[in-house]
Amino acid sequence: MERPLINHRGPEMTALAHDISRGLKQLFGTEAGEIVLTAGSGSGAMESSLVNTVSPGERVLSLSGGAFGDWYARQARRLGAEVEVLGVEWGEDIPREALEALLRGDADHEIRAVTVVHNETSTGVTWEVAGVRRALDAASHPALLLVDVVSSLGSMEFRFDEWGVDVAVCGAQKGLMLPPGLAIVCVSARALDACERTTTPRSYYDWRPYVELNPMGWFPVTPPTSLLFGLRESLAMMQEETLTGVYGRHARLAQGVRQAVDTWDLAMVGRDPALLSNSVTAIRLPEEIDGEALLSFAREQLNLELGGGIGPLAGKAFRIGHMGWLNELEVLATLGGAELALLACGFTVELGSGVSAAQRLFAASWANGSASGKSAR
Ligand code: PLP
Repeated sequence: MERPLINHRGPEMTALAHDISRGLKQLFGTEAGEIVLTAGSGSGAMESSLVNTVSPGERVLSLSGGAFGDWYARQARRLGAEVEVLGVEWGEDIPREALEALLRGDADHEIRAVTVVHNETSTGVTWEVAGVRRALDAASHPALLLVDVVSSLGSMEFRFDEWGVDVAVCGAQKGLMLPPGLAIVCVSARALDACERTTTPRSYYDWRPYVELNPMGWFPVTPPTSLLFGLRESLAMMQEETLTGVYGRHARLAQGVRQAVDTWDLAMVGRDPALLSNSVTAIRLPEEIDGEALLSFAREQLNLELGGGIGPLAGKAFRIGHMGWLNELEVLATLGGAELALLACGFTVELGSGVSAAQRLFAASWANGSASGKSAR
């Protein structure tokens, strides 16, 4: 990323952008999807998905089981859509029956788009995007499927084509292991058609000039070139490890964290073990433990940045992120730090209990050969 910059309308940029596009398409699981890369962040990518597919006054159905599901809905509302939120208690599963009933009830197909968060970072719960596609298909509903993959892409499998996703939105700073600064969008042919007839005013995020220049590997505006150098490298790192290896490593590390949490006898925010995320774990705190004090202790005494509870979980939960370039040793250190912080805040925990539970899991997965790929250094 510290390399000198290149002409963004020259042959080096063409090669760079084409490498990135190939790598991102592999990660999104698409052959036909178009990549639109702009400066921004995950929220910028969400805005980009909305202004190109939904006109003012059109209906959007937002599924929400956490802070980012709510955020997608709020953005759509701010941009002029008529938004209906189909919410569940934070940490719960997709309300499949209610979703299907709502879609069937919309006989005139007024709902333009359904928004869904693949991995809800605020609750540590991963939703089955294919299930939302099934509900749309079962109701023969043509709404576009817009999916937030901000905290899943690069940490867990995503299948844009197979799941019938129309727009997937991401940032740079999570599974892609970069500093913040990119809004990354993957767009289906149906979404590009919608983009033509959408009347929402848009300029910087209008997909059309980007898509037009994609074959040249150029951009209609100055791109964040240094981040693109970094993105090419992070995609190459994942290809070296293989995507199976990357996803297997995240599954293993997440399982280690979950073993530790079980050993501490703390509850997850997500109550269904089958839905627990491989990129972030959200843990409920007993009422008598002050979540803010826990975070401060970890930060000040250990230089350990734990995630706080968001919204209604503020002070009542904490989160351990385990995405990106991370190995067993770092997870064990984090768990050790979390134990010290919990103890300092008055929670009775046997020091080393969670660490050794995770160690045993890692040791067993190596012993039985289920740990695929080599670990991140
Ligand atoms: N969606 C999810 C699932 C997120 O985790 C985040 C940020 O953490 C966002 C959206 C917003 O992305 P950004 O902060 O990059 O704008």
